Amino acid sequence: MHEGSAALGDARPHPARVYDCLLEGKDNYLADQEVAEELAARWPEIQQGVRENRRWMHRAVRYLAREAGIRQFLDIGTGIPTRPNLHEVAQEVEPTARVAYVDNDPLVLNHAEALLTPLTEQGRTIYLQADLRQPGRILASERLNALLDLREPVGLTLVAILHFLEESERPEAILEELVAALPSGSYVALSHACGDAAPASAKDAAAFYREREVSAPVVPRSEARINGFFAGLELLEPGVVPVSQWHPDGPDLPEAVWFYGGVARKP
Ligand code: SAH
Repeated sequence: MHEGSAALGDARPHPARVYDCLLEGKDNYLADQEVAEELAARWPEIQQGVRENRRWMHRAVRYLAREAGIRQFLDIGTGIPTRPNLHEVAQEVEPTARVAYVDNDPLVLNHAEALLTPLTEQGRTIYLQADLRQPGRILASERLNALLDLREPVGLTLVAILHFLEESERPEAILEELVAALPSGSYVALSHACGDAAPASAKDAAAFYREREVSAPVVPRSEARINGFFAGLELLEPGVVPVSQWHPDGPDLPEAVWFYGGVARKP
């Protein structure tokens, strides 16, 4: 679904659409394209990181569905649909997999159709318009609880979203509240923008995002901080690493150091 007319009135670049541009998607407008082009030209690692982040999501979800036996997923910060979407990856492994998608962006809602079409006959998905900063609301949602059984293990996926939370929004506390609601045997898969490899560039890129008034600022965090998000959980091998290094499918992956990711089990 292309909301062409909405585009014209909306001159502001938008984080989900800028991200879609970086993935070479079609659901974006001129203002987004300008920001994405300049980002990609000045910091080519970002575009590569975004692509590798998406591939990491595929591998992490496949791992959860296949190795960890996860049958239900809560994906917060879904983004504009990009094939394969999370439910398509999960249902390919496990046809009955259920996925609750959550995003706070009305734009993602406009495109939710692609998220709501299960890959398999037994698979189910829903889309909730909700905000990560209100975890209690997400967890209490009737629609969510009609789809997911929170007494059974859940795969909580926070893929490239936590860097949109500022420190004052207490990302650790939010994550803690979400994890507390899930039973033992649940998993958290999380990826995050990281500035360790090139702190000055990361700072410049974040400032660029802010200057260009992309509606949410990006807050890259250190590897140590990203590790801290997994406190109290059993981090799987190889720990928190550049997403391209997490169980790579092939040997020659480019090292995408701008996004770090990890997967952990709730004991
Ligand atoms: N998970 C996808 C998309 C990442 S882009 C992927 O990795 O490919 C980040 C998404 O998080 C955007 O769609 C944005 O709208 C959403 N987002 C940002 N802050 C949010 C918040 N506070 N609550 C819910 N969604 C949020």
